[in-house]
Amino acid sequence: MTLFTRDVTVCVLSSGSAGNATYIGDGRAGVLVDCGVATKQILGRLEAAGLVDAPIDAVLLTHEHKDHVGAAGVLSRALRKRGKAVPFYCTAGTRDGMDPRCCPDGLEIIEAGTPFRVRHLIVEPLPVPHDVRDPVSYRVIVGDAPVAVVTDLGKPTALLARALRECRAAVLEFNHDEDMLWNGPYPYHLKQRIRGNHGHLSNTQAAQLLADGLGPRLDHLILAHLSEENNTPQKAMSSARTVLDGAGVLGRVNLQCALQHAALAPVIVAARVC
Ligand SMILES: [Zn+2]
Ligand SMILES: [Zn+2]
Repeated sequence: MTLFTRDVTVCVLSSGSAGNATYIGDGRAGVLVDCGVATKQILGRLEAAGLVDAPIDAVLLTHEHKDHVGAAGVLSRALRKRGKAVPFYCTAGTRDGMDPRCCPDGLEIIEAGTPFRVRHLIVEPLPVPHDVRDPVSYRVIVGDAPVAVVTDLGKPTALLARALRECRAAVLEFNHDEDMLWNGPYPYHLKQRIRGNHGHLSNTQAAQLLADGLGPRLDHLILAHLSEENNTPQKAMSSARTVLDGAGVLGRVNLQCALQHAALAPVIVAARVC
């Protein structure tokens, strides 16, 4: 068996409550995880990141909140116009919960916990606790290089920690600082929703998940879905840094915060494939 190396690109195009989209691909096949910003922005930011010709073979939807599926309908038609009908994958719960105006053409129904293939990529939908019908996070595996996008969950789980442990790159939610949320301007019911077991990860909870899921192969960690009102990049980075430092890998892991209004420069991991 011949082994060779292939570069896997991970590019967070947008992250936060105003819209989420991440590209993962190896030059021959690729997927978008979520499409919660306008199609024009998704395609424009891919181009700005040097990924104008990067293949999009599927769009993986995590759940029906608008900041994750808002552009699905328009994007599916735009991709078809560019010459390719691209399947959109989601759980039945996400399909049922989606605003019909967002619904894309070519929806494929998947089940949390059941991996599937997109060309030679293996996609693992992982169940997460969030306040919608059947939400998932995704781990995408190229050769020996898993990459995870884990956002929109109310608490860390053992299953997610296990899935993160093998990863070469991870996009992980660091949504809010508990004190900022509690003392901030949100109404009480919204604070309770965000803090709840089906809301969003605080910096402390995300750090716990990172500590449990930190493995020896992690090269890139991107902090994601930061609240603009209830968090700061400094606070999120500091929480993540403490974990990396404690594990003695602070200098080795490339740590960044994803942005809401621009694409982050792509990160690359080398995958061995046969
Ligand atoms: Zn979200
Ligand atoms: Zn959500």
